[in-house]
Amino acid sequence: MELFRRYGVPVPRFEVVSEPEEAARAAERLGGRVVVKAQVLVGGRGKAGGVRLAGTPAEAREHAQGILGMEIRGEKVERLVVAEAVDIVKELYLSIIIDRSIGAPLILASPEGGVDIEELARTRPERILKTPVEPLVGLKSYHIRRIAKFLELPQDAQKQISQIITGLYRLFIDYDCELAEINPLVVKGDGGLLAIDSKVIIDDNALYRHPELQERMGREMDEYETESRRLGFSYVELDGNIGVICNGAGLTMATMDTVLVLGGKPANFLDIGGGARADRVEGAVSLLLRHPKVKILFINILGGITRCDEVARGIVNALRKSGLEKEMVVRLKGTNEEEGRRILEENGIYVLEEMDEAARKAVELAGGVK
Ligand code: ADP
Repeated sequence: MELFRRYGVPVPRFEVVSEPEEAARAAERLGGRVVVKAQVLVGGRGKAGGVRLAGTPAEAREHAQGILGMEIRGEKVERLVVAEAVDIVKELYLSIIIDRSIGAPLILASPEGGVDIEELARTRPERILKTPVEPLVGLKSYHIRRIAKFLELPQDAQKQISQIITGLYRLFIDYDCELAEINPLVVKGDGGLLAIDSKVIIDDNALYRHPELQERMGREMDEYETESRRLGFSYVELDGNIGVICNGAGLTMATMDTVLVLGGKPANFLDIGGGARADRVEGAVSLLLRHPKVKILFINILGGITRCDEVARGIVNALRKSGLEKEMVVRLKGTNEEEGRRILEENGIYVLEEMDEAARKAVELAGGVK
């Protein structure tokens, strides 16, 4: 919302709070009628009961109490957005994504906003207008006219939609976005336009160009994501209980698939990358040893430039230093395999050779094979 505002995309007045009492005070400042929203990094909050209209500050306090602590699609609500309530006549959809098939930004627009856009794309694709923008030429007024017409906007909203599309496009380019989305973009009772929800995804590889956001993201991300970013490996949280550590994205994906096929559920995607030394492996293992969702650790390493003895040392160090224990299934194969196996077995960790066998073992320990 702050980025939108900076780029001339109008947003309602809002405050971010974390206590019911603060929500009431914010509502007071915003004129009484407000919407209390869960501030979580997932969509579909409305359907989950995470967006509620309040007529008075007292009601805002009550809603805040109800929403704080809720869990929405796996995200615990710790903060809320209190935004002034808007008199909505119509909800529209507007976003910009990267279309990899044409190698260019693509503007998506629909007169039917506030809905699940993937669902709309499936059922009524003709209601979504796609406008590619040649990146070297940039956004032109004919793009804007085309979109404005499709959105069936009243004449007096033309100037504003032009400002919104232009601002969103500039933001998209300046911030190396993968997605900049307004859903819904609303037409108010007085004919004006307002973005009442915002979603921006920035390409991770470009984050270093936006240090101010990186610092901020650190605050939004959980402890495990922050730590893995610091250690420099790819990490994605999932909702199972088998902690997976592999080297290389392909092997990690294959390992997760094998676990799934056998009836298990991975707790994460964690790729330590190629050629990881002991300290990096130690970081990865410690992270999952600490993670409350992880019941079993499944370490699957195919040594090429990665050396199995380094991996083994990393595992042993993590166990020693953290003092934590969890059941572990390790499969090691490749460069310096014998040395790696020796180090682990000396420390009471049994090593398996085949991936299928290891995956089966991990799933069994986590609660059973299908
Ligand atoms: P999500 O997409 O996560 O469900 P939204 O921010 O899109 O959350 O809110 C869901 C719906 O709640 C919107 O489509 C809109 O109808 C309503 N809403 C959200 N914010 C406001 C607001 N400030 N004023 C009035 N209605 C709102």
